[in-house]
Amino acid sequence: DGTGIISVKIGTIGADHVLLLADDLTRATRVEATRRDFVANVSHELKTPVGALALLAETMEDAADDPVAVRRFAQRMQSESTRLSSLVREIIELSRIQGSSALRDADEVSMADVAEQAIAVNQTVAEGAGIRLVNQALDDLLVYGNRSMLITALSNLIANAVTYSPESSTVTIRSRRHNGMIEVSVSDQGMGISPEDLERVFERFFRVDKARSRARGGSGLGLAIVKHIANDHGGSVNAQSVLDAGSTFTLQIPELSVPVAAGARMKENS
Ligand code: ADP
Repeated sequence: DGTGIISVKIGTIGADHVLLLADDLTRATRVEATRRDFVANVSHELKTPVGALALLAETMEDAADDPVAVRRFAQRMQSESTRLSSLVREIIELSRIQGSSALRDADEVSMADVAEQAIAVNQTVAEGAGIRLVNQALDDLLVYGNRSMLITALSNLIANAVTYSPESSTVTIRSRRHNGMIEVSVSDQGMGISPEDLERVFERFFRVDKARSRARGGSGLGLAIVKHIANDHGGSVNAQSVLDAGSTFTLQIPELSVPVAAGARMKENS
């Protein structure tokens, strides 16, 4: 990329040919450092709930004669294990998508269909929290992509909007065509994010308020997963937010201008 260390290997083929092999070591080093950071972060994140469970079990044993205390510890153990399993699920999800290309199983995908599915996934939790999901996605926008990954990405944005919003508020899903991209946005009327934190929300394991996010079952991986899926599609994700007013997260995916079926027919005819 012009900034890196390059390893050059020189060899000879025959008498008058020189073989030159250049390799960008910076990229390899960077990938390796990211992998090492990820493993370190995962170990740290897993140690917290596992440690809490061990401590709770130990304390419960000491309080065995007090049924009220035993019950309270059992409830806390249940919520720690729920958190642990959702953390493990997200770590697996992130490693799965990092190890494969979204476009390997790509097809023509309707973003209206993606929006509908992602809303359906979150409907029960939203209703439970007293939050209304409003679907204003247009219905003729097509992209070339991996349908289930796009549903995961949008569903993570809707899940966050629901998690970080108060009761009786509204989450709105919109879509539009803009500069060759299809944009799908999720707007909430929730607590919002400060400008300093907004810069970091897409980092793995970053949480604005660890205690608050943990209490809501957050792992800090949801937005890293969204970013990875968007990048894999040649797109991006960005966020705008005002503290105590709300946030809008926007997913941008390149528009599929010629439907795949029509493109295939054109090739057949030529
Ligand atoms: P988490 O699993 O903790 O929700 P994410 O990666 O999905 O992790 O989000 C990172 C952090 O960004 C969250 O912990 C939360 O503090 C903040 N955040 C994400 N979405 C919203 C939102 N819609 N409103 C307010 N804060 C949000």
